[in-house]
Amino acid sequence: MRHEELVVVGGGIVGCFTAYFAAEKGFRVALVEAGHLGSGSSGKSAGIHTTQLVLPIDIQLSKRSQEIYRNVATESVSKVGFLSIEPYWMSKYSKKLLDGADVRYRVLSNGELADWVRWMRIRDYEVGLYTPDDIVVDVSGLFSILRERLSGLGVRVYEWWQITNLDAGQRVINLERDRLSFDYAVLAGGAWNRDLLAKSGVWRVPTLVYACQVLSFNVDGNVFDVPVFIEENHVYMRRFGQSSLLVGNGFALKLKSPSDCPPHPVREFIDELGQKLLDRLKHPENYRLTGGWTGVCSSTPDGRPLVGQVPGNPYLFIIDGLDGYGIMRGPALSQDLIEYISTGKAPATIEAFTPARFTNFAGEPEEVIELHSWL
Ligand SMILES: Cc1cc2nc3c(=O)[nH]c(=O)nc-3n(C[C@H](O)[C@H](O)[C@H](O)COP(=O)(O)OP(=O)(O)OC[C@H]3O[C@@H](n4cnc5c(N)ncnc54)[C@H](O)[C@@H]3O)c2cc1C
Repeated sequence: MRHEELVVVGGGIVGCFTAYFAAEKGFRVALVEAGHLGSGSSGKSAGIHTTQLVLPIDIQLSKRSQEIYRNVATESVSKVGFLSIEPYWMSKYSKKLLDGADVRYRVLSNGELADWVRWMRIRDYEVGLYTPDDIVVDVSGLFSILRERLSGLGVRVYEWWQITNLDAGQRVINLERDRLSFDYAVLAGGAWNRDLLAKSGVWRVPTLVYACQVLSFNVDGNVFDVPVFIEENHVYMRRFGQSSLLVGNGFALKLKSPSDCPPHPVREFIDELGQKLLDRLKHPENYRLTGGWTGVCSSTPDGRPLVGQVPGNPYLFIIDGLDGYGIMRGPALSQDLIEYISTGKAPATIEAFTPARFTNFAGEPEEVIELHSWL
């Protein structure tokens, strides 16, 4: 049995950045991933990374995570900005939030907005809020870069190694063909944390597990460079490659377990999104559905992340419940958790998102709380 100072369970955004920051602090780190790095939700995300969020703490996390991507994996980042289309009365709240967080933005009047997105039907009460410093992350390229960075820092990466269970008392992780003992372990298994911890008799993580889905369309004509979010119907879209568009919305399909995730987008989602697009596109005949995919996400009862010590287990830590915002929240939260483990001092995010707030919570959340939007 090999001993490591810190074992990270899961090689998504959270696991890779946790291992990265821990190794930078001088920990001897192993990262264990059941598939390949990024094979969970992270590699299936749309890669949208905006500061146009509702909670001030989320805006700060998003700003910090953007900086981390720029520093650690700059090749995977494109600064394209982000455009939110919203009713003019809402934009005054959005502006206040962005001012408070010191985010650069520009308001597009109804006429300017209609001119920017000529391919879309704009309501006469809508304006645009454009944040020019926002980015998109190329998630497939990102994980190749992170694999290199981790190896450069001496992190032992176990890809295609499934953790079967965890003995919190003995501080041992059982893999299919091996065992690892640890001083500290971080659970970064995303939507899979819940089953692993329950099976190991450690804690019932209070998350709801759901499938998140996107569709891809081939577009005749130019595809707009800037990711767009339509507040009215919660549809987001971003250019993907030369002539494709990725489209999704807040549709969350509740699952009993991540293994129940449908392999392809479900009919109800395709129909709902199709209807919303028809309503907004001036020339829907130029858009041909070419595919799509699904991935699993997890959400907590209050929609906020879960970050910190697993209740009653001083050597076990968790980051979970990142919802559909893990690309934006993950890197900064990983950095904060490692700061906490190495110094014992809890940064504000760890205080705010402590798992201890759910020690008396039984069962699972009823629904996913949407924190991207006011409506
Ligand atoms: C379709 C879709 C679109 C999205 N779009 C966006 C977006 O545009 N912007 C955004 O910010 N967020 C987006 N998200 C959400 C984002 O992808 C997640 O919040 C984020 O990836 C969560 O990261 P994670 O590291 O916690 O989990 P994951 O990436 O799921 O990583 C967990 C890893 O743990 C591994 N694992 C699980 N069990 C074990 C075990 N027993 N042993 C070893 N390894 C194990 C899994 O294989 C997995 O790789 C989207 C999600 C989906 C599905």
